[in-house]
Amino acid sequence: MQPPAADVVLHNGAITTLDRRRPTAQALAVRSGRIVAVGADAEVMAHRGTDTRVVDLRGRTAIPGLIDSHTHLIRGGLHYNLELRWDGLPSLAEALKRLREQAQRTPAPQWVRVVGGFSEFQFAERRMPTLDEINAAAPETPVFVLHLYDRALLNAAALRAVGYTRATRDPPGGRIQRDRHGEPTGLLIAQPNALILYSTLAKGPTLPLEDQVNSTRQFMRELNRLGVTSVIDAGGGYQNYPDDYAVIERLHRDRQMTVRVAYNLFTQKPQGEYEDFQRWIGLTRPGAGDEFYRMNGAGEMLVFSAADFEDFLEPRPELAARMEGDLERVVRLLVEHRWPFRLHATYDESITRFLDVFERVHRDVPFAGLRWMLDHAETISPRNIDRVAALGGGIAIQHRMAFQGEYFVDRYGAAAAALAPPIPEMRRAGVPVGAGTDATRVASYNPFVALSWLTSGRTVGGLMLYPPSRRLDRTEALRLWTHGSAWFSGEQDVKGLLSEGYLGDVTVLSADYFSVPDEEVSRLESVLTMVGGNVVYAAGEFSSLAPPPLPVSPSWSPVAAYGGYARSAAGPVAQQRVHVCAHHAPQPAWWSTGCDCFAF
Ligand SMILES: [Zn+2]
Ligand SMILES: [Zn+2]
Ligand SMILES: [Zn+2]
Repeated sequence: MQPPAADVVLHNGAITTLDRRRPTAQALAVRSGRIVAVGADAEVMAHRGTDTRVVDLRGRTAIPGLIDSHTHLIRGGLHYNLELRWDGLPSLAEALKRLREQAQRTPAPQWVRVVGGFSEFQFAERRMPTLDEINAAAPETPVFVLHLYDRALLNAAALRAVGYTRATRDPPGGRIQRDRHGEPTGLLIAQPNALILYSTLAKGPTLPLEDQVNSTRQFMRELNRLGVTSVIDAGGGYQNYPDDYAVIERLHRDRQMTVRVAYNLFTQKPQGEYEDFQRWIGLTRPGAGDEFYRMNGAGEMLVFSAADFEDFLEPRPELAARMEGDLERVVRLLVEHRWPFRLHATYDESITRFLDVFERVHRDVPFAGLRWMLDHAETISPRNIDRVAALGGGIAIQHRMAFQGEYFVDRYGAAAAALAPPIPEMRRAGVPVGAGTDATRVASYNPFVALSWLTSGRTVGGLMLYPPSRRLDRTEALRLWTHGSAWFSGEQDVKGLLSEGYLGDVTVLSADYFSVPDEEVSRLESVLTMVGGNVVYAAGEFSSLAPPPLPVSPSWSPVAAYGGYARSAAGPVAQQRVHVCAHHAPQPAWWSTGCDCFAF
């Protein structure tokens, strides 16, 4: 019997499914958003009908769409078009050149914003710009440069715009650097609380609503270019529910989302956290939404007193004695209402105290399979990993060490850095582990930079952090970035593998991830990304499949001039293997007619 016709068939590929029952395949078929067949060309081609779009992958490597289990897409999307990204730039000279050009392009009262995602060590010069350099690059236009979670540089025009003077007091946990007359120099330092950085950034102009919509779409397209098809959004400071979700909700309603988003709700009110969650429990429920946009519970901020900031330039913060009481009240409320939750947790000392609270709640109100997770966990001990396992928790890891590893080694030594985070121990303990970036500020959103760190053991500045035994092989790293991450939104039965019944989320790569040299992993990108069988990004020989262009708005946006993550001068890694078809001449309209090699 003829199966119902598929909407799309990809064939003649080197498909890694990550399904242990059938790890590799040549072809797959998608119908109504789901994979209906995976296997050899001939088997899958049985699903082709007259209206089926047939795509010849020409031997390229295809993988499940990547899933970032901890990022800040919703907030990042609102501002993406305002941001000059230094992510991936090889030199400070190029960064300053772009800053100078963008300052000339930016109309008052807008700022030039460089908001994290880079490390000073990625630059050939291996340093941050000086205040003199950013003042020279932008004498009139306000400039705000955020470096990770540790400092921000403001030029003189930005200092005037935010109104910082000798009379301005330092906020708790932050410092405004001053000259000998007491005047602010323009350098803001987290010590270790980044509130000073984020609250200063929040004084800048934002985009009008229509441009925020465009901006979020541009950011999702940029993630599609990098092979991402799903994320879990960890909320964020100044990202308040439901007020700051209007744009993403509109994109969802208008079916314009090209990345699936599961989102956690992040409290905004120090000492009012319980009331926030109580209100949200009345407003929504975990799982509300659909496969594109779904509520995923609470976090990553549950109570402000539990925030252990990951600034490795500063000593580890000791959490206040009130933390346990604050956290217990909120966690008890969440567990009673069966709300999954996640908690930002950098250091083992904090994690010990968090687990004391969780175990206490669990004795009264059993977790009983409730999905919960720690985020980051760079220095978690084997003992605490076992405690997470016993309570059924997961751990979402990110490549923050790729950006701050040099600082970590300076403060704690190379031996401690080699264990941070202890991924092999987490996996041995049977704890679900998901991978992600924690973008957009404390690291870049580029998943291939994270895969490069996991597999090569090096920071973006080239420092080797991990011995071979503590690096992941490429397949294991990819598994964390796909099926591993799917657990964190409870979607491990529909995402992260290329198997029948799973969502048709597929990434076709610019080169073979499994065989390129280490230094080329971070330069990979997608040439064809599908979400639910729909093409959301296509380039190179697949360009004719690409969705219609989406002009950047406003037109002066740095994204219009430079895009997002810097494309290396050499361009994406060239594909070595090309499909040579013995039976057919190269066809210009190869995708519409397909190739009938399956018949042989
Ligand atoms: Zn965090
Ligand atoms: Zn985060
Ligand atoms: Zn052919």
